[in-house]
Amino acid sequence: MSPHVDNVVPSPALPKSADVVIVGGGIIGCAAAWFLAKAGISVALCEKGRIGAEQSSRNWGFCRQQGRDSREVPLIKESLAIWRRMEAEMGADVGFRATGIAYLTKKPEEMAKYEAWLSLAKEHGLDTRLITRDEAKNMVSAHGDSWLGGLLTPSDGRAEPAKAAPALATAAMAKGATVHTGCAVRGFETQAGRISAAVTEAGSIRTNAVLLAGGAWSRLFLGNADIGFPQLKVLNSVLRTGPAPMITDGGLWTPEFALRRRDDGGYTVANGSMSIADIVPDSFRLFRTFLPALRMEGESIRLRFGRQFWNELMMPGRWSLDRQSPFERLRVLDPAPAKGFLDQAMAALREAYPEFSNVNVVESWAGYIDATPDAVPAISPIDSTPGLFIASGFSGHGFGIGPGAGKLAAEIVSGAPTCVDPTPFRFSRFTDGSRLHPETGV
Ligand SMILES: Cc1cc2nc3c(=O)[nH]c(=O)nc-3n(C[C@H](O)[C@H](O)[C@H](O)COP(=O)(O)OP(=O)(O)OC[C@H]3O[C@@H](n4cnc5c(N)ncnc54)[C@H](O)[C@@H]3O)c2cc1C
Repeated sequence: MSPHVDNVVPSPALPKSADVVIVGGGIIGCAAAWFLAKAGISVALCEKGRIGAEQSSRNWGFCRQQGRDSREVPLIKESLAIWRRMEAEMGADVGFRATGIAYLTKKPEEMAKYEAWLSLAKEHGLDTRLITRDEAKNMVSAHGDSWLGGLLTPSDGRAEPAKAAPALATAAMAKGATVHTGCAVRGFETQAGRISAAVTEAGSIRTNAVLLAGGAWSRLFLGNADIGFPQLKVLNSVLRTGPAPMITDGGLWTPEFALRRRDDGGYTVANGSMSIADIVPDSFRLFRTFLPALRMEGESIRLRFGRQFWNELMMPGRWSLDRQSPFERLRVLDPAPAKGFLDQAMAALREAYPEFSNVNVVESWAGYIDATPDAVPAISPIDSTPGLFIASGFSGHGFGIGPGAGKLAAEIVSGAPTCVDPTPFRFSRFTDGSRLHPETGV
């Protein structure tokens, strides 16, 4: 079941040409459109379904620096700065609150990881600190003795996934961008090897730049042009409660449950550690590339063989641009949530906070997280095709970093100086023999 996402009224007509065409209206594509339009660059954003309807409205809503891969820290700092000023600049509510995010644990090995991460936080001037055992005890109203402590970054925050991407798309339109929903991009055309047009189901747009922000679909999109992008999907399930007693105004992660206070007075809740990796044909093709990531995720990923294998096996990997593409056949990726994991999360939450015993679950959903082998996104030109760019593979942390990533992508596409060093996000690392190892999990 799809969670609510604010509606965006699309532009009336597809333009004949645009400086940049963006493929995908998740938070990354919408943020890039906003930054490009603000810079006076004409931009058309095409979304096959509805704005924000895939990962960008299904996520937990954490906007965190804490626990990040060191390669992402400068960009997430930039992104947090944008979140803080975004509402005032756009004149729209995205629910951003700098409420802090806390991790609590009962496991000594987790505590050791937090201590290690603290030195990275210090290096980057973050306000992260350890939570002591006594503080942890006070934070959880039952079984306090079993908590060892945790990690807290007060300047981290939370925002409303239902609002953020739509607000960015609307703000981009106010600055002159056009936004087209129910409009899949089938592919692109080139002249003398350079991008010359984006081909959509509603017609072609002449352009010299295509930015692919297609989330979980980016590998398929590039595959049709013989460009390999190592990307797999992981399924994470989420629920939302009705109004609930205040236990934290921000985000809280524990090995058994994760939660975030919502603006509607309820909580978004998920199983803190368990996700599902459906075995699909790409699992075999990319097995070696993803082995280090798989080893790191270890017990937190449950492998599953089922319908998704056959769905992906039947999905065409090649299509001609004058025929229906796979993007038109599945407008919104809406997998079923894993009820067992959610029941476990709610049971652990009610045990930790008995005041939740009468709080009801209003709805649940799931989302496919798109992941790269090193759990770091690609925000980069694709050198083999001048004019083609990518901002994808956000590996479960793209919501918080979304505004910053959109800004960086817009700068790269337009040739402007970049807000952070883009080298760690280069697409060429997948083919130039670089070591592809994650520092943190998905
Ligand atoms: C359950 C869950 C929990 C998460 N929790 C967090 C969190 O707490 N904090 C955090 O920072 N991140 C979190 N994430 C990750 C975060 O949601 C994603 O990294 C981020 O939303 C990715 O944004 P995106 O724009 O790249 O992708 P998406 O939001 O998936 O958007 C991609 C869009 O591209 C469109 N598209 C694809 N192909 C085409 C095409 N050919 N033509 C037109 N349109 C196309 C799709 O329809 C889709 O709307 C979570 C993710 C999930 C699923």
